[in-house]
Amino acid sequence: MDITVRAVLVALLVAAGSPAALRPGGATGVRLSAQGQDPHPTFAVGTATARRGQKAYGVLKVPAGSDAGYDIPVVVVHGARPGPVFAVVSGAHGTEYASIIAVEELIDTVAPADLSGTVILVPLVNVPSFERIVPHVNPTDNKSMNRFYPGDQKGTQTDRASYVMTKEVVERCDHLIDLHGGDLDENLRPYSYWTVTGNKKQDDASKGMVLAFGLDHIIISSDRPKDPAASRYLENTASTRGKPSITAEAGRSGPVVAGDVKVLVDGCMNVMRHLKMLPGSAAPVARPTWVEKVVSLTADREGVFHTAVDRDAHVVKGAKIGFVTDYLNRPLQDVIASDSGIILFIRAVPSLKKGDTMASIGVVSSQPK
Ligand SMILES: [Zn+2]
Repeated sequence: MDITVRAVLVALLVAAGSPAALRPGGATGVRLSAQGQDPHPTFAVGTATARRGQKAYGVLKVPAGSDAGYDIPVVVVHGARPGPVFAVVSGAHGTEYASIIAVEELIDTVAPADLSGTVILVPLVNVPSFERIVPHVNPTDNKSMNRFYPGDQKGTQTDRASYVMTKEVVERCDHLIDLHGGDLDENLRPYSYWTVTGNKKQDDASKGMVLAFGLDHIIISSDRPKDPAASRYLENTASTRGKPSITAEAGRSGPVVAGDVKVLVDGCMNVMRHLKMLPGSAAPVARPTWVEKVVSLTADREGVFHTAVDRDAHVVKGAKIGFVTDYLNRPLQDVIASDSGIILFIRAVPSLKKGDTMASIGVVSSQPK
């Protein structure tokens, strides 16, 4: 949004703040207290405080502890009308660039004048990973920033950042989307996750979100922790606190491809339409492919990885999907599909050390959901 438009909006909001416009059921739609006041005239997350109908920029402060503190950037869009609080987070893995750029775009795309409700946008949780171009972990403490939720005030930087995210973002929102993508070493086809908690009402709500998001491959997560105190993942932290939420992934291996960014931006905007936070409607994806199990093929030694299939290949159990040589090109092993399914991602680089993921195979559910 340019400055001129923002100035006009402020002027409109000042006008909307007049007593006549603030009558219950009046032009603003803001439900007023008995005293005629908007119960949420502002919404603050970290240092970002947005007045109704405005957008505010700030940071979430991760305090110093056993290691350094840092700031997580955050934007709050406080809609012109009340509604749900919706959080979109990316950059837990700071080199999954398409997802980060998608939330950067949402910062400009979500207009407070169009919005019923409040949107919290956190484009880059793992600032150290982004700055130092380190995949998978926070280089400060070598921890994945999507495995230590709900966090710990007394832990290392990742634990403390996760604690801040839980308190300031998860506990403040009604719905959350966590965006990821193929990291620097992952050649990934886009997909989303639908978490089954066992609470039918919540699961129906999150299913509505994942269908509105629009990606046509959906992983059914039914094995995630049920204990809110040991939630591990960000989306799971929201889901175990009763907030219908999803995860979605697009983008791969470094480059920011416009199509990958677009499916994530469009997905979030469609979920906002589905939640009646934005005008319009979102058609649910027709006949998605439901993935009931994800199998990771992990390296048990170092070597040079060679692919034999591309992302999205359909493979049968026993098929050769790659092979590993030593550093002098002598064969070490073939990489064999352990299950029949879809290559959700295949290793994008030859570098291979023990414990690295060589491929992720999605086993397709035969049952319609
Ligand atoms: Zn990730």
